[in-house]
Amino acid sequence: MNIQLAKLATMKIRTSSTQKKASERRRNDLLDLLSQDDDKQRRPCPDCHTLCKCDKHSSHCTCGCSVDCKYAPRMLSSDPDLYPIESNVVPLVYAMSVLRVAEPCWSCEGHLKNDNELLRPPQVWFYSDSTVYPELISEYLHDLCFIKETSCLWTVMLCQHTASHATTFSIKPEISEEVKITSKILRQLQNDLHVISYSLREKVFKLAEK
Ligand SMILES: [Zn+2]
Ligand SMILES: [Zn+2]
Ligand SMILES: [Zn+2]
Repeated sequence: MNIQLAKLATMKIRTSSTQKKASERRRNDLLDLLSQDDDKQRRPCPDCHTLCKCDKHSSHCTCGCSVDCKYAPRMLSSDPDLYPIESNVVPLVYAMSVLRVAEPCWSCEGHLKNDNELLRPPQVWFYSDSTVYPELISEYLHDLCFIKETSCLWTVMLCQHTASHATTFSIKPEISEEVKITSKILRQLQNDLHVISYSLREKVFKLAEK
């Protein structure tokens, strides 16, 4: 054993019971995710009881459920009258709601001020008791950036000091300070929101099954 390794060996702290608990919890969280209904099995919008358009005329049928549902911007919002979900961020809020284990709680499609300064980047905030889901989403976002599907890297971060007591994370683009945000760049970031939403469930499930 060389000196470096010997040093590491003596530094190791006994963590077996912590590790065992963590891996058990991780396994349960993954199984929980993989057992969730998709949007054809159950409506993703909380409290949506709109009567559907097929022969069933049902308040539970999912025949009309998709990112394009005209009710989604209101049904996905906790304050539909004042703050329906902004159109460019609806697909990602919808996709997060279909995961069901990472409930979105705040979103913004991104805005400029004076046409050339970023007021707020596009983003979605979500609750998660488990760190496994933010991890999987983060891995998916890295993959998307790596294959250049998104215009930049999007990251998952823990939100500090939120008003709620639930653990909250954000999904945001990583924008370097030198980049001047023009309306063209904002449009690219908003396009990323769509790209991220397309295969979120499918790819996060694949990562969870690994
Ligand atoms: Zn809906
Ligand atoms: Zn129906
Ligand atoms: Zn906004």
